[in-house]
Amino acid sequence: NKKRRINDASTSNHADISATHGLQSGKLMALQRSRELLPIWPGKDAIVDAVKHSDSVVIIGEPGSGKTTQVPQYLLDAGLISPEGLIAVTQPRKVAATTIAARVAQERNAKLGSEVGYAIRFDDQSSPETRIKFYTDGMLLREMLNDSQLKRCDVVIVDEAHERTLRTDVLLANLKRIQKARSAEPNDKKEGKRKERWERRPLKIIVMSASLQAERFSRYLNNAPVLYVKGRQHPVRLFYSKTSQEDYLDSALRTFFQIHYEKEPGDVLIFLPGQEDIENLASTIKLYAAQRPMDSLDVAVRPLYAALPVAKQHEAFYKAPQNTRKCVLATNIAETSVTIPNIRFVIDCGLCNEKRYLAPEKGPGIERLSPTEISQSSAIQRAGRAGRDGPGKCFRLYTEQTYKQLLPAQIPEIKRCDLNFAILQQKSFGYDIEEMDLMDKPELNAVKASKTILKILGAVNQQFEITSVGKLMAKLPLEPHLARALLQSKENGCTKEVISIVSILSASSKVFYDLPNNEDREAAFQARSKFHHPSGDHLTLLNVFRAYDEISEGVKSSSSSNGQNGIGRGERKEWCRRQFLNERALAEATRIRDQLERACQQASIDPKQSCGDAHEPVLKSLFRGLVHHTALKQLDGSYKAGELPIKIHPSSVLCDKKPTGLMYEELVLTSFHYARCVSAFPPAWQMEWSDSLRKSL
Ligand code: ADP
Ligand code: MG
Repeated sequence: NKKRRINDASTSNHADISATHGLQSGKLMALQRSRELLPIWPGKDAIVDAVKHSDSVVIIGEPGSGKTTQVPQYLLDAGLISPEGLIAVTQPRKVAATTIAARVAQERNAKLGSEVGYAIRFDDQSSPETRIKFYTDGMLLREMLNDSQLKRCDVVIVDEAHERTLRTDVLLANLKRIQKARSAEPNDKKEGKRKERWERRPLKIIVMSASLQAERFSRYLNNAPVLYVKGRQHPVRLFYSKTSQEDYLDSALRTFFQIHYEKEPGDVLIFLPGQEDIENLASTIKLYAAQRPMDSLDVAVRPLYAALPVAKQHEAFYKAPQNTRKCVLATNIAETSVTIPNIRFVIDCGLCNEKRYLAPEKGPGIERLSPTEISQSSAIQRAGRAGRDGPGKCFRLYTEQTYKQLLPAQIPEIKRCDLNFAILQQKSFGYDIEEMDLMDKPELNAVKASKTILKILGAVNQQFEITSVGKLMAKLPLEPHLARALLQSKENGCTKEVISIVSILSASSKVFYDLPNNEDREAAFQARSKFHHPSGDHLTLLNVFRAYDEISEGVKSSSSSNGQNGIGRGERKEWCRRQFLNERALAEATRIRDQLERACQQASIDPKQSCGDAHEPVLKSLFRGLVHHTALKQLDGSYKAGELPIKIHPSSVLCDKKPTGLMYEELVLTSFHYARCVSAFPPAWQMEWSDSLRKSL
């Protein structure tokens, strides 16, 4: 009877609100009241108690019950944290980490970055006063590079653990190891006194999840107690498609307007696989709504996906104006990680974008992103979003038969993803992935394939020991292939150029955004084509960044007299608009480049070393990182990456050219495997390479 339902008791535990002061006290009291109305509130003491008495705890509760925003605050307010200690809360997604940190800071009347902060890649909002810090799971792993025992952390809360991302799984295995090491008898007999337990500061692990895999997590964490938070769920009526839908965007559109014209009150949440679909459907819904306006009810379309700027993400949570129906178009971020109020209708297309790794028997594997059927458990969670504030309806754009054939739960990422970075990172901590205590073991083929790639990249040697290059690669906040290209640029004397390209590739959205239907495609093509570089997309991106830098420089010197950069940003935006470029991506890339320049300096690489207008050194550096992402032209003019037939993505500047050898950033599966972000390389390089590879493997 470890199971405990912690909030059945109707204790009403009134919080001390005397601490709320200042001008906003009215708003704060309202916030405090809404905290007390959350389903998790009556369970506060039980949670604090469980964490006091066990090293690990599992907390299960429906989305919206208050786990993520409240549990860290309960622990902090109960004094469970040492004066200089930290509660780290991890999220699989950046959006969740930043929006929830902002919410918790607001609830505590604190400035974001002081008592409550966050850290995601390339963005850290925290200070020495920070007591609650939200991380992406990958960022907390990175923290171990500097602090291998996570000494600053008293508690780590691994949130959304049911998503089983690769990084969550790897993080949990590391946390278990650290917990064991930190609670072991200290080895300090020399000091002549045994440290008290509290002095040694054991690590508490809390796993939180929205779905019922509790037993599995509990067993994994040495039979940790499980606490259940009962949510408030209203009934949701399910509607299935009668026939299978060819075009889910079209059926989502129809379904939305059916709901809309029926005039039942409530907002709508549509689940789509990714950004592209969201942008497409958003513009069609706006178009139709404008063509057939209803006098009594407007539509407010609100996209929500990871690459969206934070301010835009927040709009999805705001109440729509009077007489307006909000229509949120989201990826599976809205499935469990964040809760949007007032949703009464859910439209579920049944797909999500998922990474899949194709690991061949021999040689390097290939990762690709493609829309994949969701699991039954995801479908249930999605439907549940319609019933939080009242009875709701969920429209599944697939048949009941299809639903019955879905997998019960998603396959953990560790069994279907590229393991390159995970293996390299663990190696840099001193561990082999095979010896780690993971919830699920990765596939042998995938481990072998990643090891091959790490050897090809020179991150490990023949004996699979980490090399000095490998150590640097693990430190750089970049994917291994980009890290390798950056390191190579030092040898080729072109770090300034490569660092720019790598920064653009690391930004969360694309510089050449997909043109919406209503935009003038011909004008856009004209405007963009002046950046085209004959060698392909990488140097085209460099041309764009250079032009953007020039504009920024010009803006700086012309506006420096009045010291305002608001004007500068405006000018840059206007310039980008005219060039049909995504200013947000370029601004982000600029910030990333600043950080990478600092990282380079720490690694004794001169970030400003330039090769001028020469492009071969740049391509050669990129090739060093992308050597496992190459394809060669076949006799019939088609391309093969290893054994896999691929095509050049229509968005590439090389789309109509036919170079003999090409390297690419990623493969996307739609009707075919398309290589995105492609550059040409002379076949001689491949020859050179396969020769030296044969010798080395
Ligand atoms: P859980 O982690 O259990 O899914 P959360 O702690 O994330 O729940 O959210 C609890 C409640 O807090 C939500 O139901 C919502 O009412 C409110 N909330 C959370 N984030 C926000 C936000 N950014 N804006 C407004 N309300 C929010
Ligand atoms: Mg949550």
